[in-house]
Amino acid sequence: MDLYCVMGNPIEHSRSPWIHARFAELTGQALRYERRLVPMDGFDAAVSAFRADTSGTARGCNITVPFKFDSARLAQHVTPRATLAQAVNVLSFRKDGMHGDNTDGIGLVNDIQRNADVALAGCDVLLIGAGGGSAGVLGPILEAGARRVVVANRTLAKAIVLVQRHAVLALQHHASLEAQALHTIGGAFDVVVNATASSLAGGEVPVAASVLKRGTLAVDMMYGPSAAGFMAWARAHGAVPRDGLGMLVEQAAEAFEIWRGVRPPAAQVLAELRALVG
Ligand code: NDP
Repeated sequence: MDLYCVMGNPIEHSRSPWIHARFAELTGQALRYERRLVPMDGFDAAVSAFRADTSGTARGCNITVPFKFDSARLAQHVTPRATLAQAVNVLSFRKDGMHGDNTDGIGLVNDIQRNADVALAGCDVLLIGAGGGSAGVLGPILEAGARRVVVANRTLAKAIVLVQRHAVLALQHHASLEAQALHTIGGAFDVVVNATASSLAGGEVPVAASVLKRGTLAVDMMYGPSAAGFMAWARAHGAVPRDGLGMLVEQAAEAFEIWRGVRPPAAQVLAELRALVG
């Protein structure tokens, strides 16, 4: 049986195994999908061990926090969008080596535009965080036509590097792109995306409520109980809160299509997952 997994640390909260099992069921694909906890200093060894797993034929894996930069380094062939992100969340094991791609960005954009019905064209977007998740979504947000994108991060230097790497893309799409520290963000935004791990760690929302205005779409990439604090904060300040469940399903649908060549019904699986997690 073809074997896939999601690797990360922590990993217990991941809904990816459920999503991919459901995709497989609905598209008639025979595969097994597991979750694997990876020691913080053991990413390369964990990938090797998975590839050598004899309980099935390892075909690929999803990579989540905090190993997306490590997987970009490990892959022998990397798509242009993952090269720009320098972060890989999908590895495919093929005859000529490991192929890396990044489906986080298209997953977020599809969720915002198709599922939340908000067009990004002409929007002012605040992207909080400069880790693997943020790096994956910045390019697709620019390509979707955002008018202005501010990347804010606790460690400002990382936001600056991310912005510099996307400067040409921003120019090509006539977008204004800048890096700011968390406490110096000016003005309110149409769309706010929390791509920090602060929710995962149970921390406070890392920016002031002045970044929100009535009707702002406020997306936390996190989902489940961990996203509750951000969602309540957004709602309390007149914004429209959205968790990361839609992004999770949409990025998984892209990965499934890369691996299996079949498009799974993402909207149906998202509705089922919402009903399951409440
Ligand atoms: P990384 O570890 O690569 O980056 C973490 C980011 O969070 C960094 O910008 C870091 O800032 C910031 N951060 C961590 N703790 C705090 C804090 N207490 N206050 C402010 N900023 C903080 O993680 P990823 O980017 O891969 O993932 C980030 C989140 O997005 C995770 O919760 C992950 O589960 C989620 N995610 C969800 C997806 C989905 O499909 N729904 C897809 C991708 C990610 P600094 O640089 O200063 O350390």
